Amino acid sequence: QRAAYAALRDKPAVTKDGVVVSLNVNAGLLVDLEHLKEVGADGVGLYRTEIPFMARSDIPGVEAQVSLYQKIMDEAGGKPVVFRTLDAGGDKVLPYWDNHGEENPAMGWRAIRVTLDRPYLLRQQLRGLIRACGGRELNVMFPMVAEVAEFVQARRLLDMEIERESIKGHRLPSRVNVGVMLEVPSLMFQLDSLLEKIDFLSVGSNDLFQFLYAVDRGNPRISGRYDTLSPPMLNALKAVVDKCNKAGVTLSLCGEMGGRPLDAMVLVGLGFRKLSMSASSIGPVKMMIRSLTLSELENFLHTQAGKSRHSLRPVLRQFAKDRDI
Ligand code: PEP
Ligand code: MG
Repeated sequence: QRAAYAALRDKPAVTKDGVVVSLNVNAGLLVDLEHLKEVGADGVGLYRTEIPFMARSDIPGVEAQVSLYQKIMDEAGGKPVVFRTLDAGGDKVLPYWDNHGEENPAMGWRAIRVTLDRPYLLRQQLRGLIRACGGRELNVMFPMVAEVAEFVQARRLLDMEIERESIKGHRLPSRVNVGVMLEVPSLMFQLDSLLEKIDFLSVGSNDLFQFLYAVDRGNPRISGRYDTLSPPMLNALKAVVDKCNKAGVTLSLCGEMGGRPLDAMVLVGLGFRKLSMSASSIGPVKMMIRSLTLSELENFLHTQAGKSRHSLRPVLRQFAKDRDI
């Protein structure tokens, strides 16, 4: 199987009926970048900047961040890297950071909530990213955004930093693409106004699923209770695809479900054309895509709409099995 995946390395992820899907890797450490080349991914769809922050004993300063982000971009060898700003708190604990005794840290003071309350942290990080990307493209996205106002505030800090770097005579990024992670259900109900303001949207399906179903992503007692291939989740994702297509905003998904071949198949069936996953999933997902006739799956999904099942997984598994996917 490994050899079969390796043989696909330089082949595109294209369905039998010619639809191309961009496959990207999730990364957090410099070593993850080695896998990018190994598996032949299109880029880094999610670089979790909190990972290097977690591996240190204190918050890195601007210069340390610049050199880190530069190394990552160099390692990516010209392929795009999407940097997510600090997503600390929740399940991502910084050793030098008190969790303030929160009872529900996943729903607590985390991610953009922290960095908007401590803007110097976000400004330093954005400065580091802008400087690291001088002359190159900067792709930056904000995690756990719950309302458009939070994005507007973060975007303002980004613009201030760009202005500051420009005044200081630093080389600016050749282009700045700004995105948001869709992880909090409230944002789904404000998508139209968000989509006017952003360059790309990335679904963080781990958190979105957790909050959509009110099911703790780290609790093994309930982790099998609900399924990502269930009507509520799929209806939510379909609505997001439709809105992004209408607004002409690039959409991706960077949660774990994108790396599970059957789930990824359904995502492509719903209209996702860009997925980001752990490097080890690229081979299996690419193999699935190359054996899929997308129009058949789309028709099949239409026939399943509105059925009141707990999960579509069994019928989708059968669909895939019948077609040697
Ligand atoms: C997600 O929530 O799906 C996601 C990609 O972010 P993380 O897993 O880092 O919370
Ligand atoms: Mg998340």
